[in-house]
This record gives sequence, C-alpha cells and structure tokens, in this order.
Amino acid sequence: MSVSYKNPEFELIPCPICGGQEFRHLFHKEKESFVRCVQCHFTLINPRPSFDQIAKTYDSVYSENYTKKAEKKRKRALRRVKRLKSRYSLRGSWLDVGCSAGFVVEAAQNQGFTGYGIDIEVGGLAYGENVLGLSNLIEGTLGEYQYPSRFFDVISAYDVIEHVPDLNLFLTEIKRILKPHGILDIGTPDIDHWRVPKNLPTWNEFKPSEHLYYFNKDTLGKLLEKNNLKIIKQRFSLKPSLKVVISHAI
Ligand SMILES: [Zn+2]
Repeated sequence: MSVSYKNPEFELIPCPICGGQEFRHLFHKEKESFVRCVQCHFTLINPRPSFDQIAKTYDSVYSENYTKKAEKKRKRALRRVKRLKSRYSLRGSWLDVGCSAGFVVEAAQNQGFTGYGIDIEVGGLAYGENVLGLSNLIEGTLGEYQYPSRFFDVISAYDVIEHVPDLNLFLTEIKRILKPHGILDIGTPDIDHWRVPKNLPTWNEFKPSEHLYYFNKDTLGKLLEKNNLKIIKQRFSLKPSLKVVISHAI
C-alpha cells in the first residue's frame, strides 16, 4: 500500500517491516530523503521516486560496468556456488535473482545445477545469452514472471534486495517458488558494519533512487521472519556487506 505525496512523482510508504508510519529524518542526498523507522529502526529512502522513475536507473551503463569486470565476477560466482553447494549438500535447480550477465547461473550450471536467472536489465541478459551461452534467463521481476511453486532448491539474490520496490511481495514470491527446506542466499550492504563511516551520509552505498533500503542483521531478520524465512548463518565479510544464508522454514 502506498499513499501519494505532495510531489506526484514521489510516494510515501509505510515501513515495509513493521508497518510504522513515523520516520526520523537522517539526511538528504540528491534531494532524496533518507529516514529511519521510529519503531523498528529500518533505514530507507522515504518518500521515494515512483517505480517508473526507479526502473530508469537501470540502463545499459549499469551492465557495461558489470561486464568490464567479467573475469573477477566469474571467479567470485564460482566461489559462492561451490561454498554453498558443499556446506549445505545442495543439488537440483538454482535461481539467481538479479542475475545481470548470469555469472552465478553459469557457475551453478558448471557445478551440476540447472541454472536459472531473472533480471530487469536487458544488456546483462544479452551478454549472458550471447557470450556465456546461457539459456533459462528471463527479463522481468519475480511475480511478474511466474515460476512454478516449490520449484527451486536454491535461490540467490546478491546485491538485489536493497533495490526491490515491494519487499514483502518479493519475499512472498521467493517463499512460494523455493522448495520446503530450500536455501536462500542473500548479500546486501550492511548499515551496521564496522567499516561504514561514522559520518553516515558519506557512505558510498547510499545511492538515491537505486538503493531503497539499508539493512542490518536485525531488520533483515525481522523482514524474513514475517515471511516465514529464517537466517541460519551469517558469513563474515570484510566489505560492509550483510551475507546471510536463509532457510525456508515450514
Ligand atoms: Zn519499521
């Protein structure tokens, strides 16, 4: 649910975690208002640009930057897939949400999974199909594209959840398509990480229109719990990232 704000291109939303309507202003960046929920301390942009405006930030430059570092991304994807596979004895089908060029999908395929990817940005998907030779890549968002229920053994979403306009819709859909006892692997900037600058507005992860939400383990845990998903492991991260493995609790 959203209510219109003074400026028709902006919308004010209730807190996606606790439903609270009271926010404490933190700072402005590029005229966008960064706030914290008074009740649950979730940090977000609010009011925020409308979804149409947000989608415009995903142009081809976004994926060009990504593919420039292809080899590095490829190795990182393989590391991620191998680690998760061995630690949780995983097999079957793997969906990477926000797959961009599809490096995780490729790594999953190499490790014996049937790999799937979905993203809204066509440039990255074209690279995945044409250069990496991947199939099973879909242009769109979860919910817009209907995967079968209880279909995936593993779903990964790296640097994705902070971009998603409707968090609860996103997690409801993940829960629907993930098998019972399936694994969800998430990475997102961690606002409570020790490397986040004391002078908060200078943190380079504060990206107007692009990063809508700023989690810590507590707020992400609460959001997941609402959707009957449970953090089972937090991985150590030198970068200010929150890396968690989540189980589909029944
Ligand atoms: Zn809240």
